[in-house]
Amino acid sequence: MSQELNLWYDPGKCLIGGKWVASASGETLPLNNPSTGEQIGAIARGNGQDIDAAVAAAEAARVGPWGKLTAAERGRLLFRISQKVLERVEDLARIEAIDVGKPLKQARADALALARYLEFYGGAADKLHGETIPYLDGYTVYTLREPHGVTGHIVPWNYPMQIIGRSVGAALATGNACVLKPAEDACLTALAFADLAQQAGLPDGALNVVPGLGSEAGAALSAHPGVNHISFTGSVATGVQVQTAAARNVVPVTLELGGKSPQLVFADADLDAALPFLVNAGIQNAGQTCSASSRILVHRSLHDQVVERMAARYSSLQVGPALADLDVGPLISARQKSIVSGFLGRGTDLEKAAEGVLRDAPDGGNYVRPTLFAGVSPTHTLAQDEIFGPVQVVIPFDDEEQAVAIANGTDYGLVASIWSRDGARQMRVAKKIRTGQVFINNYGAGGGVELPFGGMGKSGHGREKGFEALYGFTVLKTVAAYHG
Ligand code: NAD
Repeated sequence: MSQELNLWYDPGKCLIGGKWVASASGETLPLNNPSTGEQIGAIARGNGQDIDAAVAAAEAARVGPWGKLTAAERGRLLFRISQKVLERVEDLARIEAIDVGKPLKQARADALALARYLEFYGGAADKLHGETIPYLDGYTVYTLREPHGVTGHIVPWNYPMQIIGRSVGAALATGNACVLKPAEDACLTALAFADLAQQAGLPDGALNVVPGLGSEAGAALSAHPGVNHISFTGSVATGVQVQTAAARNVVPVTLELGGKSPQLVFADADLDAALPFLVNAGIQNAGQTCSASSRILVHRSLHDQVVERMAARYSSLQVGPALADLDVGPLISARQKSIVSGFLGRGTDLEKAAEGVLRDAPDGGNYVRPTLFAGVSPTHTLAQDEIFGPVQVVIPFDDEEQAVAIANGTDYGLVASIWSRDGARQMRVAKKIRTGQVFINNYGAGGGVELPFGGMGKSGHGREKGFEALYGFTVLKTVAAYHG
């Protein structure tokens, strides 16, 4: 393992039933540094056998010590894990920067968000309860919110810490026992988190981690009859596979998929306030963000001015290694670079307004220059497909109705924002837009863990984050007692 990583745990193992073990096959998978292309180590190549063992360990924890804890005790444990994460923020940020390729300050924000999720769900654990329901004379009716049992968590490489915080955090708070399958491209902080959770005293088997390929460990987890709920974050194609596999066992699935999220800039927008959000929401984590804003819809009267101002920012964007902590890092893999480059190739008919600049970017790294296109038709491939790279298109519109139609005119529905000073317009447009989150005169609201998040259309279904997630990680039981 690379010296610069300085890990305090063995990254080549799975965590099953509280023990760090090699994969059943004994095989490993290489892990590369996206900033340099160099191999930095190897992770376990878990397969169906490891998933079987992890699900069995989770089930044993559920009926054993973990399942016997009170909600308040689970909450206190989450606080302790949160504290362990806070003590390691700088280590976690560095590991994530090297593993994912994201600039250090963005990785640090992810580590802090992980701690905050655990704190939030720790505090929420004993606030969730059922209800009593007025009913016929002679009856007392109430509902119980119970954990699903064993929950599967399949996470991508782009925000491992944030996604683990929001899904595993909420699942543990509600008393589920988890099997986590991190992404093969970046899984070091998932393993670090599991180690910290153990250090904090999480009972054996409450959290199991099986790294491996999606087609092996991921597919085995989705199809496992011992899993009672699956939380999947990733691409649409894989989400469909996961849901199909889970449907054979009639297991509920939460899907957090991709997006093509628009920002709508009306003629009365405060451009000075909007400008930083217009660009940052497109280039954060090199555009590899499900809620990246890849479409900027601008009233035609402002189009040239917005393009000019965004282009000025683009031309100053510095792209380089994650530890250099510049504006934009590399993409996760050579494969992702080839996908994004393919999209840029399909934009040669468009007006390229500006590009970022490479700075000390090693040849082996997966760098692309952030690119802004202007005057784009809403039906162009670059305005329709999720690129998952630092590429934004500016699309002009003539009136509110057309703006809403363009905003709703893709397969996705994750996030949108409205830039306008007109309160009535803000309310009207917010209602008409088909996305899971709508922001008014901001984008992302600072990413607060309190805000429920999820998609419409091909962006997925179910909600994570906020208190709402706790309902998703529990199942409602109705008890009707007749006492005359
Ligand atoms: P991906 O679907 O290839 O992989 C995601 C996870 O699924 C990985 O852990 C992978 O190993 C696993 N996987 C792959 N094939 C599988 C299979 N057949 N069965 C079960 N699991 C399998 O996605 P990615 O390339 O890692 O991530 C990029 C995508 O994720 C983008 O489309 C992005 O928009 C989406 N994403 C969405 C959110 C959200 O919250 N909505 C957040 C982050 C990323």
